[in-house]
Amino acid sequence: MKKGLQHVVMAGLLLALASPSFAWFKFFSDSSYAKTRYPIVLAHGMAGFDKIGLLDYWYGIPDDLGSRGAKVYLTQVSSFQSSEVRGEQLLAQVQDILAITGASKVNLIGHSHGNQSIRYVAAALPGRVASVTSVGGPTKGSPVADLIEDASLAVGDDITQGIGSIVDGFGALIGLAAGEELPQDILGGLASLTTAGAADFNARFPAGVPTSACGEGAHVVDNIRFYSWGGTGQVTNLLDPVDLPILANSASFIGTEDNQNDGFVGRCSNHLGKVIRDNYNMNHLDEVNQVIGLTALFETNPVVVFRSHANRLKKAGL
Ligand code: CA
Repeated sequence: MKKGLQHVVMAGLLLALASPSFAWFKFFSDSSYAKTRYPIVLAHGMAGFDKIGLLDYWYGIPDDLGSRGAKVYLTQVSSFQSSEVRGEQLLAQVQDILAITGASKVNLIGHSHGNQSIRYVAAALPGRVASVTSVGGPTKGSPVADLIEDASLAVGDDITQGIGSIVDGFGALIGLAAGEELPQDILGGLASLTTAGAADFNARFPAGVPTSACGEGAHVVDNIRFYSWGGTGQVTNLLDPVDLPILANSASFIGTEDNQNDGFVGRCSNHLGKVIRDNYNMNHLDEVNQVIGLTALFETNPVVVFRSHANRLKKAGL
């Protein structure tokens, strides 16, 4: 190739890469990619929080969505409480967000026990919720909670109450560190997440819940869209100190029907509404990009999964 021609080709390539219409460039720079019509409200799981100092529960996710045009709101409920108490706490915060923003609806996304919180709010405010998205949510409960319940029955009430008080204290500390003084009740929280507790909640809040053991739920109920995704990984990044405890936790699933799991929630239990994907190579904490972004190298980055979902909501006009 002649030198002059080489220069023209090089200049053309550079121009294409720098051009805002070039797809690659657009993907990384599009400030409206996640610009949903309605605000996105994030609801954390058990033992969770909104933000402690610089540490986000949703590590890097709100900033990423925000830089692509989404209005994102973090919420904070009791770390350990029943689905109903946490749902009531979230309801008050969603009403505030609706009032402050003047938005007519919100998109709710809940991780883990946040699944039940957002479904509670959707049932209470059907006209004000555009979508409900569960991430690693125990729709059908978790054998981890079943096992703890069995163990507490075996050791008796006194020891269970004693351990419960210690964990409640831990939950209160998390709340205080995150700037909120909230009541804690680990035993109530666990009772909500047993297979029986989840089934009881599902009977009262059936929207989006699959009626078969491992199918999808209704995609739209009362004009609210329901979505879910989850993982089936345990040890996904050797640098992450929580991966081994998560692997140990996954032993709770041995002998259960829904035994592929993320350490806390089974593959089928994570289904709600339209199943986007139920078997990412992610453990329960990877799903929210923890700990500090240590996730599987050869899996879609959790931040990108949230980003794509915001774009999905945007395209659906939500
Ligand atoms: Ca991780």
